[in-house]
Amino acid sequence: MINTMGAGITFHILGSSSQGNCALLETPHCRVLIDIGFPAKRLNELLEPTGRKLSDIDAVFITHEHSDHISGLAGLARHPKVQVFANRETARAAQIRLKFRPAWQFFETGSTFKFRDVEVCTFAIPHDATDPVGFVFSVTVGEAKPRRLAWCTDLGYVPELVRERIRGADVLVLESNYDPDMLDRDHKRPWALKPWALVELRCARAPAHHGKPGLAAGIPRALVARMQRCAIGTRHVRLVWAKRPTVGN
Ligand SMILES: [Zn+2]
Repeated sequence: MINTMGAGITFHILGSSSQGNCALLETPHCRVLIDIGFPAKRLNELLEPTGRKLSDIDAVFITHEHSDHISGLAGLARHPKVQVFANRETARAAQIRLKFRPAWQFFETGSTFKFRDVEVCTFAIPHDATDPVGFVFSVTVGEAKPRRLAWCTDLGYVPELVRERIRGADVLVLESNYDPDMLDRDHKRPWALKPWALVELRCARAPAHHGKPGLAAGIPRALVARMQRCAIGTRHVRLVWAKRPTVGN
């Protein structure tokens, strides 16, 4: 799917499932991938509708080391100039599976840094990986107000820190691994988190969503409104829903 964020910024979800996760963010000054969960050949096929190729990519931002988020790193052996941003623990876990060394750029989880015209905010998310992160990418073009894209995948639940970080995003990509039965049985989780969980579950079950990860159209308007109210506190969020139905990966 393609999202125009205005001010010459576009965002494309290339894939979001247990088969692979990857998105392309294009700004006036760079083209970056968020996760790279597809082999190079498949990635080039997925990029084709965008008019881009792997050789056009400037950088990759890695959320965590699970293979559906990094399997394309091997293909970067042919593209040594692509900078790969990750925290050290994630890079270490990924490097073990690689026969070459990508152009790693390390960041501290929780830090904010700049890559060309993109400000990248990183924050910890709950997931069973070594040091998983979410990102908020913020781009300011000329006098236009900053455009913000929040990216959180594989969330087990939505802690306060994540809510804080994603608040006010123009585009929000959330992906979660809820097990509905587990949620129903869960009496320990603070009740305040349940609206999120329930909304997410119901979104995931929306018929139009099946087989079409990343499509916001299948999400009932009332649910989006409810999610915005309970979690984000703004009416100006476009929600891009990405859902993987399996649990625990
Ligand atoms: Zn994962």
